[in-house]
Amino acid sequence: MSRLVLKFGGTSVGRAERIANVAAQIAREARAGHEVVVLVSAMSGETNRLIALTREVSVLHDAREYDSVVAAGEQISSGLLAMALQQLGIQARSFMGWQVAIRTTGAHSAARIEDIETAELEDRLARGHVPIIAGFQGLGPDNRITTLGRGGTDTSAVAFAAALGADRCDIYTDVDGVYTTDPRIVPKAQKIARIGYEEMLELASQGAKVLQTRSVELAMVHKVRLQVLSSFVDPAKMKAEDIPGTLVCDEDEIVEQQVVSGIAYSRDEAKITLRDVPDKPGIAADIFGALDNAGVNVDMIVQNISEDNKTTDLTFTVGETDVDRAVKALKQGAKPGEFGEIIADTNVSKVSIVGIGMRSHGGVARKMFETLAQKGINILVISTSEIKVSVLIESEYTELAVRALHSAYDLDAD
Ligand code: ADP
Ligand code: ASP
Ligand code: MG
Repeated sequence: MSRLVLKFGGTSVGRAERIANVAAQIAREARAGHEVVVLVSAMSGETNRLIALTREVSVLHDAREYDSVVAAGEQISSGLLAMALQQLGIQARSFMGWQVAIRTTGAHSAARIEDIETAELEDRLARGHVPIIAGFQGLGPDNRITTLGRGGTDTSAVAFAAALGADRCDIYTDVDGVYTTDPRIVPKAQKIARIGYEEMLELASQGAKVLQTRSVELAMVHKVRLQVLSSFVDPAKMKAEDIPGTLVCDEDEIVEQQVVSGIAYSRDEAKITLRDVPDKPGIAADIFGALDNAGVNVDMIVQNISEDNKTTDLTFTVGETDVDRAVKALKQGAKPGEFGEIIADTNVSKVSIVGIGMRSHGGVARKMFETLAQKGINILVISTSEIKVSVLIESEYTELAVRALHSAYDLDAD
């Protein structure tokens, strides 16, 4: 008997018949004698609909009320899933975050889970019940509902797996594993059987939305074995070879390593250039301090050497949704003369190659730049870490760049 945490994403519970299929998958695990805890996302499209409503009513809304609205989608899906399981004769009930309780920080729409009360869940598991828990939500220090950021149910699932000491955390989604790149834009992408936490973390943080970044971080810290697999199979027709998707695990469990394991892209990028920044100590601290005070995360940064020893240009990237806030923070936070013109461009994407093999192989970045050059794609900004190289390019070339790089690093399926 194993203890399993199963997570079902939005498309997996998008319609009534999909919910019935998911219930059958859960029932199969429960009947096999496993202890099962389920985390569920809102039905697909629901969270987007709720976010759009908050914007229609009030653009500059109260973050606490925003969370109260957008957390509602998971209340519906968890209740429906519990009903579907009860119909199959399984003792299931839904839990909202506050009923568990899932305690989080107070950072609305980007809260972090701090503690999960497990006593009642343990009691129910011992009695063979299946708790169906609303993902993405928790309870802040002031007892207000919080949410964990888009895709947050992945993180809820890993947090429960860690808190309950689960043997595995299964992330059921609409693809049957983690691929060498998004299979929606590269049909020749290949499924990866096993991937290390570090590489998965880098892929997720560079835009591969198959797992929320924070969920991989938590899995790495708590050594949770994460499996990504498809819910789009009929359990009755499932063959043994259909089941394993991708296992996210420790690197030493992986035999074969590629130099580049995967390619990620993110369209949610904006480039900001500050012209005529004085070339003297303290200016960068002021500029990035103003952005930090406004809660804006900065990703890539480049600064040129100054030709006249007086001024230079400073370019950096922020999330596309943060661009207006960033420009406002710069204008309000800057002292006179700290920069001239501000140029913001949201028509940019980031493409990244990721692989642990980069630590020991040279020429990896060179191949990336040559491949992009052959396609006539101009690189606007570059940033690197030990196991990744990212480039900022014009948005319209995103798919072309990802496909060309996928071929260049021999990742295409035959
Ligand atoms: P869910 O609703 O189940 O959480 P998501 O839409 O958040 O599902 O994540 C699954 C999607 O992630 C896939 O449909 C796929 O388009 C996308 N994706 C991006 N990069 C990858 C990758 N490297 N491997 C697999 N899927 C990826
Ligand atoms: N429903 C939330 C979202 O769409 C959380 C999730 O699906 O993981 O972002
Ligand atoms: Mg998701």
